[in-house]
Amino acid sequence: MPTLSSPPAFHVMVKPRGAICNLACQYCFYLKKEQLYPDGNFRMSEDLLEDYTRQYIEAQGVPEVTFAWQGGEPTLMGLDFFRKAVELQEKYRLPGMKVINAFQTNGILLDAAWCGFFHDKGFLIGLSIDGPRGLHDTYRVDHGGQPTFERVMRAARLLREHRVEFNTLTCVSAANVTHGLEVYAFLRDEIQSRYMQFIPIIERNNSTGFQTGIYLTQRSVAGGHYGRFLIDIFDEWVRRDVGQVYVQMFDVALAAWAGQRPGLCVFEETCGQAMAMEFNGDLYSCDHYVQPDCFLGNIQQTPL
Ligand code: SF4
Repeated sequence: MPTLSSPPAFHVMVKPRGAICNLACQYCFYLKKEQLYPDGNFRMSEDLLEDYTRQYIEAQGVPEVTFAWQGGEPTLMGLDFFRKAVELQEKYRLPGMKVINAFQTNGILLDAAWCGFFHDKGFLIGLSIDGPRGLHDTYRVDHGGQPTFERVMRAARLLREHRVEFNTLTCVSAANVTHGLEVYAFLRDEIQSRYMQFIPIIERNNSTGFQTGIYLTQRSVAGGHYGRFLIDIFDEWVRRDVGQVYVQMFDVALAAWAGQRPGLCVFEETCGQAMAMEFNGDLYSCDHYVQPDCFLGNIQQTPL
């Protein structure tokens, strides 16, 4: 339950399959987190799902609660797991409380059944795509090193056909950072994305995936290049797409400039209200800091 010293609300990104993924994107820092759990089964149990759902709802002092599913790849849990999740949310939801589900996926396993479910239950999907074929396929490959562009395009088509609300999540890496306008136009015109996030790849050059060491991989982007990427997009967006297309970075920058809470950790005065939870209930202070020195506890021993 919230206490006087706890924030009215906080956010948890849940990874029901931990770091397990059906892709092997070359810049992915999260795949290495599998090493944290050498004996792990990487599958959240139904008991834990129920505990978490109850605790998370009870700990929120606000009328709207967002469950965020991520990975690794959450579709690897299978659809029944999420049917159960929705059932439990309904069971523990307080009167008048609105529950939202945000679900981040690489799209590979999406089919009519998944998309029908997402539509019926009002899930908000974040689909990962890095731009047109050549840019996307540079780093976003499967475990056999095969490109994934066609499969993600198919997923985007299915989401549109089933009228599922979706955002695009685009990693900005050395492959696409000099192609801002091309990436933006592709997302707007081909994918028909109306909500875009552009996430800079800052990948430490180490074998753990932890935020340690001072060297970055060559796939990473420098601040100036990322800024140029955003400026190229902004110049197009501000001339023709304001009110039609939402670019997260522009929205939060505007909110901060106008003196409002931006809602994105890097723009806030302090961070720490967006945590990450692994498949076994281990809670970490941030999705980017799933590592031993940022371990907060396990929710089955210390409730949220
Ligand atoms: S789809 Fe996401 S979790 Fe999977 S390898 Fe790519 S970046 Fe990592």
